[in-house]
Amino acid sequence: MTTLADLLKRRIATTGPITLADYMSEALLHPEHGYYTTRDPLGATGDFVTSPEISQMFGEMIGLCLAQAWMDQGRPNGVLAELGPGRGTLMQDILRATKGVAGFHDALALHLVEASPVLRAAQSARLPNPTFHADVSTLPDAPLFLVANEFFDALPVRQFQRDGTGWRERMVGLDSDTLTMGLSAAAPLALLEHRLADTKDGDIVEVCPALPAIMGQIGERIGTHGGAALIIDYGDWRSQGDTLQALRGHQPVDPLHAPGTADLTTHVDFEVITQSAAPARFTRITPQGVFLERLGITQRAQSLAQSMSGDALESHIAAHRRLTHPSEMGDLFKVVGIYPDAHTPPAGLEP
Ligand code: SAH
Repeated sequence: MTTLADLLKRRIATTGPITLADYMSEALLHPEHGYYTTRDPLGATGDFVTSPEISQMFGEMIGLCLAQAWMDQGRPNGVLAELGPGRGTLMQDILRATKGVAGFHDALALHLVEASPVLRAAQSARLPNPTFHADVSTLPDAPLFLVANEFFDALPVRQFQRDGTGWRERMVGLDSDTLTMGLSAAAPLALLEHRLADTKDGDIVEVCPALPAIMGQIGERIGTHGGAALIIDYGDWRSQGDTLQALRGHQPVDPLHAPGTADLTTHVDFEVITQSAAPARFTRITPQGVFLERLGITQRAQSLAQSMSGDALESHIAAHRRLTHPSEMGDLFKVVGIYPDAHTPPAGLEP
């Protein structure tokens, strides 16, 4: 059987090395062999676990935050959207937590941006009448209440290594019959002009080509029509170093080995996220643990704990800790809010 590795090797042998972004894009989304196109990778039996799969409390806090923003903005008709909804768990928890918010479900139509047919099917089974989109460009022009958890870390990036005042691109090529990382010739790059100030020779920076346009479309809708977006991911203010990671069965593996069979992610550059969101405003980036605490996750945890005992209680306490504690997901994951000029930032976040 032909594998994706075979196809990529043939392509590279014919037309030369490809960018890391091209490689990631094929490995994650190839129509026949892509990682996301062919499987549900989430959960204990999959390759990685995300916050909504750890506890229902995550989605509940997000739901209340979005509902509060909706009420603060005068309860407009519009869109409730999610980017990369995985199994649909987060949106299910959002919808359950906001059931009591009068008018919220009627005012907002559910729109999901999802590339994977397998995950679209999972989402359809759990969520009421979603409208699917291949990307954000087709989301309606309307007030937009949006969440994206671990979506941006799955977008392909290019990597550049500094060489003097120029940059060499890290390319995926062939060494005999093995996929291997190489470097293009050094060239100046207008895109990275500003990074000459905070890097030295040999440093690697990552650039996500799709990111500015995606955030631009979200910022355009929120800035013009209202709404709010919560972007949650691991990363920091500015991309620094090689952060490409491949996970299979919860274990790190070689990202160039057996493409299409492991999850590939990189840290998200929150500077680019916020700088691309005009005309909407953005909040400070805030650690996930701080954000969830401000929204009341501990009170919620205590109230849920009252009806639990034994193993269920133990794992509930562990889940709360995992989502919020600085040595677990509390610090590594960051949250940024996008909101319109005339309004206050989403709850739990500061201007
Ligand atoms: N948000 C979920 C799943 C995160 S995994 C959770 O927190 O559990 C990443 C999700 O983004 C998957 O649903 C994947 O299929 C989707 N995805 C990845 N790249 C995409 C792209 N370029 N366009 C649309 N969806 C994409």
